[in-house]
Amino acid sequence: MKYLIQASLLTALPALVAAQQDLHIRVENEDFRPRQIFSSVTTPSSTKGLTGVISTPAALTSAVGDGNAVSSLSRSSSHTTLTAEPLATTPVPTFHLQSTNPTAVPLASINAAQPSLATKPLDSTVVAGTVPTFLPGAPAIPNVALLKPSNYPALDKIPPIDSPEVQRWIQEVKDTGIAVPEFTPTNPGYLGGCLNNSASVGEDSRCWWTCGGCTRPTDISDCPTALDWGLTYDDGPSFYTSNLLAYLDQENLKSTFFVVGSRVISFPAILQTEYMSQHQIGVHTWSHPPLTTLTNEQIIAELGWTKKVIKDVLGVTPNMMRPPFGDIDDRVRAISLAMGLIPVMWTRISPLATFDTDDFNVHSGATSVEQVLQNWGNILSNVASRSSGFIVLEHDLFEQTVEVATGYILPDALAHKPRFTIQPVISCLKKKMSDAYIETNDNSTNPPALSAAVNAGLTKETKAPTPKKSSSDLLLLDQRAILMSLGTLAMGFGVGGLAFLRFSLV
Ligand SMILES: [Zn+2]
Repeated sequence: MKYLIQASLLTALPALVAAQQDLHIRVENEDFRPRQIFSSVTTPSSTKGLTGVISTPAALTSAVGDGNAVSSLSRSSSHTTLTAEPLATTPVPTFHLQSTNPTAVPLASINAAQPSLATKPLDSTVVAGTVPTFLPGAPAIPNVALLKPSNYPALDKIPPIDSPEVQRWIQEVKDTGIAVPEFTPTNPGYLGGCLNNSASVGEDSRCWWTCGGCTRPTDISDCPTALDWGLTYDDGPSFYTSNLLAYLDQENLKSTFFVVGSRVISFPAILQTEYMSQHQIGVHTWSHPPLTTLTNEQIIAELGWTKKVIKDVLGVTPNMMRPPFGDIDDRVRAISLAMGLIPVMWTRISPLATFDTDDFNVHSGATSVEQVLQNWGNILSNVASRSSGFIVLEHDLFEQTVEVATGYILPDALAHKPRFTIQPVISCLKKKMSDAYIETNDNSTNPPALSAAVNAGLTKETKAPTPKKSSSDLLLLDQRAILMSLGTLAMGFGVGGLAFLRFSLV
């Protein structure tokens, strides 16, 4: 029986992954997803052997993906102000790593065409009933044998909103009093992204990260202390997560895993091992859609089912989330915070310096492992000038992403001088691991998401929830409260954004 279950998962996963990958490709190729290049304020370190990104304007065009990005480049006074070194005629990714893993898969073998290699078994599986003593107040580990996929929505599809569970979560969001802005969802589809959303891109009040990198004080985009790396991996658990876990164990490293609810259904034992190995678990939606394209109710369904399946497998519920593709605006923020989830992004210095390794696209052949390492080298160069720490986008979904992490990026990071402190996001924020879960957070040092929203002015005045309006009214909002709360934020960030834009163009 066990074999049959595993065999069915083996059969099903490639299709599920393919569906998810399609979404990645569509959005990442067409949205404003600039890749990492040197910021204008840094120079490559010759001692590291990094010779910098050598990019033609054409290469930049191809890297950033769409017309918006090209025009933003064109508006700058000079391309050379955006890079540390003069542009050359040909893109030549170059990098030099301080250290690699002696057992690393050779770079030449890490590509879209590589055969699937054997995965390592989990070092240990968690026995149901085990109490996670490292988390005061956490309940015993549930029995995953009792997890019934039929009790959850279809995998890798946006869950329906008419289930009793989703209706209850919709009501709970309303009851928080959080003001959810009435933005229309952004346009999805083949021509989605910034190019097909010019009106939304122009709405400063939307604060849409995808098209402009806007963040709010409630977003976590970096670690406060210089040289602290908030290590994160997205999209798992997967077949290859165990290989990553083995390496992390070997090096005594802990990470944050932003997990997809559908993958948790497929690999609950891996999630339990991550959790019991004292890695942090965060929410990464049920089916991995770009959240700004969904209705409020669909966003609630995506986050709610992922919270639920994680709690059913671990006994606790994360209080951090990462939006797929980083696709977040004030509507998604407000809903996430109302559901107790604080958004965690990745570091973004400027439109052309986001801390995205682009490791995900090696599997599809859209990028090369050499380019991923070049991106990593560029991130390191940008880190050198930062007064705070950083968070990088990486994935544990594909063998290629795990191989580049365990064979190259992590060994190089461990050899970095000065030393990085590599740790989960919750730890780099100087919080206890127990602060990372709704049930174990004692609220003494880490106010829950709802409090954070109140502090950021995202809620209406505290008052008793207004019970029982029609369901169509559930998420309609008090316009005045929105204008007051988000307007205040927008004013502050508008000024900051202008200053930042000015900085980034000189
Ligand atoms: Zn993802």
